[in-house]
Amino acid sequence: MSANGSPLQVTFWGAARTVTGSMHLVDANGHQILLDCGFYQGKRSEARQRNSTFPFRPGDIHALVLSHAHIDHSGNIPNLVRQGFHGPIYCTPATHDLTAVMLADSAKIQEEDAEFLNRHRPKGERPIEPLYTREDARRCVTQFYSIPYDRPGEVTPGVQVRFLDAGHLLGSAIVALRIQSASQEHTITFTGDLGRRGLPILRDPAPVPPAELLISESTYGGKTHPPVGELAGGLEDVVQRTFNRGGKILIPAFSLGRTQTVIYYLHQLILSGRLKNVPIFVDSPLAAEATEVFRLHPECFDEVTAKLLADDPDLFGRKLVYYTRSVEESKQLNGRKESCIIISASGMCENGRILHHLKHNIENPANTILIIGYQAPDTVGYRLVQRQPKIRIFDGIYSLRAEVVVMNGFSSHADQGDFMDFLGPIAGQVGKVRLVHGEVEQAEALAKSLRDKGFKDVVIPARGEKVVISP
Ligand SMILES: [Zn+2]
Repeated sequence: MSANGSPLQVTFWGAARTVTGSMHLVDANGHQILLDCGFYQGKRSEARQRNSTFPFRPGDIHALVLSHAHIDHSGNIPNLVRQGFHGPIYCTPATHDLTAVMLADSAKIQEEDAEFLNRHRPKGERPIEPLYTREDARRCVTQFYSIPYDRPGEVTPGVQVRFLDAGHLLGSAIVALRIQSASQEHTITFTGDLGRRGLPILRDPAPVPPAELLISESTYGGKTHPPVGELAGGLEDVVQRTFNRGGKILIPAFSLGRTQTVIYYLHQLILSGRLKNVPIFVDSPLAAEATEVFRLHPECFDEVTAKLLADDPDLFGRKLVYYTRSVEESKQLNGRKESCIIISASGMCENGRILHHLKHNIENPANTILIIGYQAPDTVGYRLVQRQPKIRIFDGIYSLRAEVVVMNGFSSHADQGDFMDFLGPIAGQVGKVRLVHGEVEQAEALAKSLRDKGFKDVVIPARGEKVVISP
């Protein structure tokens, strides 16, 4: 029981048996604390319904704790605020800055989507409202409060939060909650998204604190990623091969995290002389802004990167990388005859500037499309990975003649070995485990390895399922 006699419990409202829409509700000492408030991504109508309707009253939530800036963890915050949430939002300083940039961009997409749908709306149908506007996004950021890693902060009366580095994205955190009830102290650890061992730029995840309830992600709970050490060599091969035949390389990438990792590797390959004369264009205004935020937060870097940054402040390559912002600049890239690398969003080629680049380059066998991220079924990116001979882009059908290379090692999520490394040491010091943020197959694979390690009470909750820590 918590301090005022109400139960201490957690309800899983998102990323339950799936990977998007992270959102868990903690009832503690009669207060409601939301862990993450992410976008649910899926079929358009279902996603709209899920994201626009909360299973609780937003005005009843006392505080929000945000693990990191990725949109599937932060993307629905403006909507929560729009629907009546007035409380504080706690996160690390880098997450604060990154989320502000992300939400402004997300709001712009919401507004543009609604505008597009309204233009094509059948007569007599009610106009579609954007899920939230740029004004909503701006407003919610005023409710953010930064707490640095490893410093305790009070979330609600008797509930303390401590952020530990999750090593997954700049500012990403493992959330450790300590709940002081009348007679006892209770603990909850929420991993957020966990990073990998040896990823560049970021530190490896901090030790995961033991707790009565461990809520862990499970995205790649049953998979083994190619080793991080092979990434630079693989990237070098692709670039050499494509440039030797006079082609361009297109890299569809989400703007946050992976884009900076690819730039980092290319920069290192160029500095060490392994690659020469490689013009790199990052064609995404959001990526440019996110990279600026990375430069503002060297406190989040690992030792190697911090040292590199001290020796060369141009770590993310302003001298070597050209960031295009205007649509005009973006279009000019298609007129270029010379070999170059173009990194552009969106990562699954569903929208954004990458589609224009694909249209102009997909039919030339000298070119390479380099896929570095997960591609959901029914996306253009998925069809590219399948190497389907004909690809629809906008209203046209194009023959896929460019080489398609898939490099899965860029993932910033823990794989099965990482999980065992991070969670293994606390087997026996954890009461209950709830696995979220994973398709069922991956979550089940992780559940099995955790049980084998000695973890008890490991459950993969369905949406709306509850776990009681203290009745
Ligand atoms: Zn993430």
